[in-house]
Amino acid sequence: MPAGSHRFEVGTIGCTVLSDGYASYPTSWFFPDADPEQLSRALESRRAPQETVLCPYTCLLVETGRHVMLVDTGLGEASRTSGAIVARLEMAGIRPKDVDTVLLTHAHPDHIGGAVDMRRPKVPRPMFPNARYVIAELEWEFWMGAHADLGGLRLPAEFQFGMESTARRSLTALRHQLEMVECETEVVPGVRAIPAPGHTPGHLALLLESQGHQLLNVGDAAVHPLHLEHPDWENGFDQSGGRAVATRRALLERAAAKNMYVMGFHFPFPSVGRVAARAEGGWEWKPGC
Ligand SMILES: [Zn+2]
Repeated sequence: MPAGSHRFEVGTIGCTVLSDGYASYPTSWFFPDADPEQLSRALESRRAPQETVLCPYTCLLVETGRHVMLVDTGLGEASRTSGAIVARLEMAGIRPKDVDTVLLTHAHPDHIGGAVDMRRPKVPRPMFPNARYVIAELEWEFWMGAHADLGGLRLPAEFQFGMESTARRSLTALRHQLEMVECETEVVPGVRAIPAPGHTPGHLALLLESQGHQLLNVGDAAVHPLHLEHPDWENGFDQSGGRAVATRRALLERAAAKNMYVMGFHFPFPSVGRVAARAEGGWEWKPGC
Protein backbone atom coordinates (compact mmCIF):
# COMPACT_ATOMS: atom_id res chain seq x y z
CA MET A 1 0.00 0.00 0.00
CA PRO A 2 1.19 3.55 -0.65
CA ALA A 3 2.60 5.60 2.20
CA GLY A 4 -0.16 7.38 4.10
CA SER A 5 -2.55 4.45 4.01
CA HIS A 6 -2.88 1.22 5.93
CA ARG A 7 -5.38 -1.57 5.30
CA PHE A 8 -6.70 -4.06 7.82
CA GLU A 9 -9.85 -6.11 8.40
CA VAL A 10 -12.58 -6.01 11.01
CA GLY A 11 -14.18 -9.41 10.45
CA THR A 12 -15.27 -9.28 6.81
CA ILE A 13 -15.22 -5.47 6.61
CA GLY A 14 -12.21 -3.96 4.83
CA CYS A 15 -10.85 -0.87 6.54
CA THR A 16 -8.19 1.48 5.22
CA VAL A 17 -6.93 4.47 7.15
CA LEU A 18 -6.00 7.27 4.77
CA SER A 19 -3.94 10.31 5.70
CA ASP A 20 -5.33 13.62 4.46
CA GLY A 21 -2.33 15.44 5.92
CA TYR A 22 -1.62 17.19 9.18
CA ALA A 23 -1.42 20.53 10.96
CA SER A 24 0.54 21.90 13.86
CA TYR A 25 -1.29 23.62 16.75
CA PRO A 26 -0.19 25.36 19.95
CA THR A 27 -0.10 22.79 22.76
CA SER A 28 -2.32 25.03 24.92
CA TRP A 29 -5.19 24.62 22.41
CA PHE A 30 -5.16 20.87 22.98
CA PHE A 31 -4.78 20.91 26.76
CA PRO A 32 -6.10 24.25 28.05
CA ASP A 33 -6.77 23.12 31.62
CA ALA A 34 -4.00 20.53 32.15
CA ASP A 35 -1.63 21.09 35.05
CA PRO A 36 1.37 22.70 33.28
CA GLU A 37 4.03 20.66 35.07
CA GLN A 38 2.22 17.38 34.60
CA LEU A 39 1.66 18.22 30.94
CA SER A 40 5.28 19.16 30.42
CA ARG A 41 6.46 15.89 31.99
CA ALA A 42 3.99 13.86 29.93
CA LEU A 43 5.17 15.47 26.69
CA GLU A 44 8.81 15.00 27.65
CA SER A 45 8.29 11.31 28.38
CA ARG A 46 6.84 10.89 24.86
CA ARG A 47 9.74 12.91 23.39
CA ALA A 48 7.13 15.31 22.01
CA PRO A 49 7.77 19.05 21.57
CA GLN A 50 6.51 21.29 24.36
CA GLU A 51 5.10 24.23 22.41
CA THR A 52 3.28 22.65 19.50
CA VAL A 53 1.33 19.48 18.79
CA LEU A 54 1.66 17.77 15.42
CA CYS A 55 -1.88 16.82 14.57
CA PRO A 56 -2.56 14.22 11.84
CA TYR A 57 -5.83 14.12 9.90
CA THR A 58 -6.78 10.48 9.25
CA CYS A 59 -9.93 9.40 7.40
CA LEU A 60 -11.31 5.86 7.27
CA LEU A 61 -12.35 4.02 4.13
CA VAL A 62 -14.84 1.23 4.87
CA GLU A 63 -15.54 -1.44 2.25
CA THR A 64 -18.26 -3.93 3.15
CA GLY A 65 -18.54 -5.62 -0.23
CA ARG A 66 -21.83 -3.81 -0.91
CA HIS A 67 -20.91 -0.35 0.26
CA VAL A 68 -17.97 2.01 -0.09
CA MET A 69 -17.99 4.45 2.77
CA LEU A 70 -15.67 7.27 3.79
CA VAL A 71 -15.59 8.46 7.40
CA ASP A 72 -14.59 12.14 7.50
CA THR A 73 -13.00 13.91 4.56
CA GLY A 74 -10.06 15.95 5.84
CA LEU A 75 -9.46 19.67 5.49
CA GLY A 76 -9.56 19.94 1.73
CA GLU A 77 -7.07 22.19 0.04
CA ALA A 78 -7.16 24.98 2.62
CA SER A 79 -3.58 24.24 3.69
CA ARG A 80 -0.46 23.06 1.91
CA THR A 81 -0.05 20.20 4.41
CA SER A 82 -3.49 18.66 3.83
CA GLY A 83 -5.99 17.87 1.10
CA ALA A 84 -4.60 14.47 0.08
CA ILE A 85 -7.79 12.44 0.59
CA VAL A 86 -8.90 12.13 -3.05
CA ALA A 87 -5.38 11.13 -4.14
CA ARG A 88 -5.16 8.60 -1.31
CA LEU A 89 -8.52 7.10 -2.28
CA GLU A 90 -7.44 6.82 -5.91
CA MET A 91 -4.21 5.08 -4.85
CA ALA A 92 -6.45 2.61 -2.98
CA GLY A 93 -8.46 2.05 -6.18
CA ILE A 94 -11.47 4.19 -5.26
CA ARG A 95 -12.68 7.08 -7.43
CA PRO A 96 -14.85 9.80 -5.89
CA LYS A 97 -17.90 8.54 -7.79
CA ASP A 98 -17.48 5.06 -6.23
CA VAL A 99 -18.10 6.34 -2.70
CA ASP A 100 -21.77 5.75 -1.83
CA THR A 101 -21.72 6.91 1.80
CA VAL A 102 -19.80 9.67 3.56
CA LEU A 103 -20.14 9.87 7.32
CA LEU A 104 -19.19 13.19 8.87
CA THR A 105 -18.45 12.83 12.58
CA HIS A 106 -18.98 16.58 12.82
CA ALA A 107 -18.68 19.76 10.78
CA HIS A 108 -15.31 21.18 11.88
CA PRO A 109 -13.18 22.18 8.86
CA ASP A 110 -10.68 19.32 9.21
CA HIS A 111 -13.53 16.79 8.90
CA ILE A 112 -15.90 18.41 6.40
CA GLY A 113 -13.51 20.51 4.29
CA GLY A 114 -12.71 17.68 1.86
CA ALA A 115 -16.40 16.85 1.35
CA VAL A 116 -16.84 19.77 -1.01
CA ASP A 117 -15.12 20.38 -4.34
CA MET A 118 -13.95 24.01 -4.16
CA ARG A 119 -12.12 24.12 -7.48
CA ARG A 120 -14.81 26.52 -8.67
CA PRO A 121 -15.39 28.47 -5.44
CA LYS A 122 -18.50 30.21 -6.74
CA VAL A 123 -20.21 26.87 -7.39
CA PRO A 124 -19.04 24.50 -4.64
CA ARG A 125 -20.18 20.93 -5.32
CA PRO A 126 -20.13 17.70 -3.36
CA MET A 127 -16.74 16.02 -3.91
CA PHE A 128 -18.40 12.59 -3.91
CA PRO A 129 -21.25 13.04 -6.40
CA ASN A 130 -23.06 9.75 -5.74
CA ALA A 131 -22.76 9.66 -1.96
CA ARG A 132 -25.29 10.19 0.74
CA TYR A 133 -23.66 12.36 3.38
CA VAL A 134 -24.66 11.25 6.88
CA ILE A 135 -24.50 13.76 9.72
CA ALA A 136 -26.36 14.31 13.00
CA GLU A 137 -29.41 16.51 12.75
CA LEU A 138 -28.17 18.40 15.84
CA GLU A 139 -24.96 19.24 13.98
CA TRP A 140 -26.87 20.75 11.09
CA GLU A 141 -29.09 22.74 13.46
CA PHE A 142 -26.11 24.01 15.44
CA TRP A 143 -24.16 25.37 12.46
CA MET A 144 -27.04 26.42 10.24
CA GLY A 145 -29.04 28.32 12.89
CA ALA A 146 -29.01 32.11 12.96
CA HIS A 147 -25.73 32.19 14.88
CA ALA A 148 -23.68 29.22 16.13
CA ASP A 149 -22.69 29.93 19.75
CA LEU A 150 -19.00 29.06 19.89
CA GLY A 151 -18.57 30.47 23.41
CA GLY A 152 -17.41 27.11 24.81
CA LEU A 153 -14.27 26.99 22.66
CA ARG A 154 -10.90 28.05 24.04
CA LEU A 155 -9.46 29.15 20.72
CA PRO A 156 -8.66 32.55 19.17
CA ALA A 157 -11.66 34.40 17.73
CA GLU A 158 -10.38 34.46 14.15
CA PHE A 159 -9.99 30.68 14.22
CA GLN A 160 -13.58 30.32 15.45
CA PHE A 161 -14.85 32.49 12.62
CA GLY A 162 -13.15 30.23 10.06
CA MET A 163 -14.78 27.17 11.63
CA GLU A 164 -18.24 28.65 11.38
CA SER A 165 -17.90 29.90 7.80
CA THR A 166 -16.48 26.58 6.55
CA ALA A 167 -19.24 24.57 8.23
CA ARG A 168 -21.99 26.77 6.78
CA ARG A 169 -20.53 26.88 3.30
CA SER A 170 -19.93 23.11 3.24
CA LEU A 171 -23.30 22.08 4.66
CA THR A 172 -25.05 24.40 2.20
CA ALA A 173 -23.20 22.79 -0.72
CA LEU A 174 -24.08 19.29 0.53
CA ARG A 175 -27.69 19.95 1.46
CA HIS A 176 -29.33 17.93 -1.35
CA GLN A 177 -27.31 14.82 -0.47
CA LEU A 178 -27.47 15.06 3.33
CA GLU A 179 -29.08 12.36 5.43
CA MET A 180 -29.56 13.41 9.03
CA VAL A 181 -29.64 11.01 11.95
CA GLU A 182 -31.18 11.76 15.33
CA CYS A 183 -30.13 8.73 17.40
CA GLU A 184 -27.96 5.60 17.19
CA THR A 185 -28.46 4.45 13.59
CA GLU A 186 -27.15 1.66 11.37
CA VAL A 187 -25.65 3.63 8.48
CA VAL A 188 -24.72 0.61 6.36
CA PRO A 189 -24.97 -3.03 7.52
CA GLY A 190 -22.40 -3.57 10.29
CA VAL A 191 -21.71 0.14 10.83
CA ARG A 192 -23.55 2.20 13.43
CA ALA A 193 -23.38 5.94 14.08
CA ILE A 194 -23.49 6.69 17.81
CA PRO A 195 -24.25 10.12 19.28
CA ALA A 196 -21.08 11.29 21.08
CA PRO A 197 -21.83 14.91 22.07
CA GLY A 198 -19.50 17.45 23.65
CA HIS A 199 -16.84 18.13 21.05
CA THR A 200 -19.73 19.55 19.05
CA PRO A 201 -23.45 19.16 19.85
CA GLY A 202 -23.99 16.63 17.06
CA HIS A 203 -20.62 14.86 17.19
CA LEU A 204 -20.89 11.18 16.16
CA ALA A 205 -18.73 8.15 16.93
CA LEU A 206 -18.88 5.07 14.75
CA LEU A 207 -18.97 1.37 15.66
CA LEU A 208 -18.04 -1.25 13.05
CA GLU A 209 -18.88 -4.83 13.89
CA SER A 210 -18.32 -8.06 11.93
CA GLN A 211 -17.88 -11.67 13.03
CA GLY A 212 -17.34 -10.67 16.66
CA HIS A 213 -14.65 -8.08 15.82
CA GLN A 214 -15.24 -4.40 16.48
CA LEU A 215 -13.72 -1.04 15.74
CA LEU A 216 -14.82 2.10 17.54
CA ASN A 217 -13.97 5.31 15.70
CA VAL A 218 -14.15 7.96 18.42
CA GLY A 219 -13.82 10.89 16.00
CA ASP A 220 -12.64 13.85 18.07
CA ALA A 221 -13.90 12.58 21.44
CA ALA A 222 -10.15 12.31 22.16
CA VAL A 223 -7.67 14.19 19.97
CA HIS A 224 -4.37 13.01 21.50
CA PRO A 225 -3.27 9.82 23.30
CA LEU A 226 -2.69 12.00 26.41
CA HIS A 227 -6.48 12.46 26.53
CA LEU A 228 -6.69 8.70 27.17
CA GLU A 229 -4.14 8.73 29.98
CA HIS A 230 -5.72 11.87 31.41
CA PRO A 231 -9.36 11.64 30.31
CA ASP A 232 -10.34 14.67 32.41
CA TRP A 233 -7.99 16.99 30.53
CA GLU A 234 -10.25 19.02 28.31
CA ASN A 235 -9.61 19.97 24.69
CA GLY A 236 -9.82 23.63 23.68
CA PHE A 237 -11.70 22.60 20.53
CA ASP A 238 -14.56 21.11 22.61
CA GLN A 239 -17.79 23.05 22.49
CA SER A 240 -18.70 21.65 25.91
CA GLY A 241 -15.63 20.37 27.77
CA GLY A 242 -17.58 18.63 30.54
CA ARG A 243 -19.86 16.76 28.16
CA ALA A 244 -16.93 15.81 25.95
CA VAL A 245 -15.10 14.29 28.93
CA ALA A 246 -18.19 12.23 29.90
CA THR A 247 -18.56 11.02 26.30
CA ARG A 248 -14.86 10.17 26.08
CA ARG A 249 -15.02 8.09 29.27
CA ALA A 250 -18.13 6.22 28.12
CA LEU A 251 -16.62 5.38 24.71
CA LEU A 252 -13.29 4.24 26.13
CA GLU A 253 -14.92 2.08 28.80
CA ARG A 254 -16.93 0.40 26.06
CA ALA A 255 -13.87 -0.14 23.88
CA ALA A 256 -11.68 -1.46 26.69
CA ALA A 257 -14.36 -3.85 27.97
CA LYS A 258 -14.57 -5.61 24.59
CA ASN A 259 -10.94 -5.11 23.49
CA MET A 260 -12.13 -3.25 20.39
CA TYR A 261 -9.90 -1.56 17.88
CA VAL A 262 -10.06 2.18 18.55
CA MET A 263 -9.47 4.86 15.95
CA GLY A 264 -8.94 8.56 16.64
CA PHE A 265 -8.91 11.00 13.71
CA HIS A 266 -6.02 13.00 15.22
CA PHE A 267 -4.03 10.15 16.77
CA PRO A 268 -0.53 9.43 15.43
CA PHE A 269 -0.83 7.70 12.06
CA PRO A 270 -2.10 5.02 11.41
CA SER A 271 -4.42 6.27 14.16
CA VAL A 272 -5.67 2.79 15.11
CA GLY A 273 -4.87 0.73 18.17
CA ARG A 274 -6.45 -0.60 21.33
CA VAL A 275 -6.88 0.82 24.81
CA ALA A 276 -6.23 -0.80 28.19
CA ALA A 277 -7.33 0.50 31.60
CA ARG A 278 -4.42 1.75 33.75
CA ALA A 279 -4.16 1.01 37.48
CA GLU A 280 -3.66 4.74 38.15
CA GLY A 281 -6.76 5.67 36.13
CA GLY A 282 -7.36 6.50 32.49
CA TRP A 283 -6.35 4.30 29.59
CA GLU A 284 -3.11 3.37 27.91
CA TRP A 285 -2.89 3.74 24.12
CA LYS A 286 -1.56 0.64 22.38
CA PRO A 287 -1.00 1.67 18.77
CA GLY A 288 -1.12 -0.74 15.87
CA CYS A 289 -3.39 -3.26 14.20
ZN1 LIG B 1 -10.74 17.39 14.26
